[in-house]
Amino acid sequence: MAQKLGVPNIGLNARTIQDLDLDKLKKKTYDGAALEPAYDAPVGPKPSFADASKQSYQGSCHCGKVTFALQSEPLNDLEVTDCNCNICARNGYLWIYPSKDAVQLQGEESLRHHSRYYKSDDKVAGHGFCSTCGVFVLNKLGEPNADSGILPINVRAINGVDLDGLKIKKHDGKTLTGKPYVLIE
Ligand SMILES: [Zn+2]
Repeated sequence: MAQKLGVPNIGLNARTIQDLDLDKLKKKTYDGAALEPAYDAPVGPKPSFADASKQSYQGSCHCGKVTFALQSEPLNDLEVTDCNCNICARNGYLWIYPSKDAVQLQGEESLRHHSRYYKSDDKVAGHGFCSTCGVFVLNKLGEPNADSGILPINVRAINGVDLDGLKIKKHDGKTLTGKPYVLIE
């Protein structure tokens, strides 16, 4: 039976539709944050950084098994990267790139990693998400095979950030990866 228009009974994440130009979609803001009961963001390590000239932030996955403290320039002063490659676009990450020593991580054992080839013998890490709630928090950038010295953080996992106040820099990862995206067998 046909569904009545305007009364969806399933929510589909448009980001998962291939070759859709996300910038061209009409977007409607929905104030889900105002819904009751209010969400209390989990709080992890109390920031204890040496450089007092920088700002401290706290963040977490949704359920709180993975939490972190971060020291950074004010987030509103940074450029935040919005990449259109096939994994970043699907998950809607917004990346910043602090050095590893500017991040205090708790609950790392609860992280699982999206590695590019999904093989069980693939030792390369990658985008780290909470194994309980599925929220992507960080990017291990090829560890342990390589050490970049930085620990990219998904700004969406930082508590209390006004996403509308961020300077967003578009990164054309889709073109730069050079190859068309194909599903991995
Ligand atoms: Zn979680």
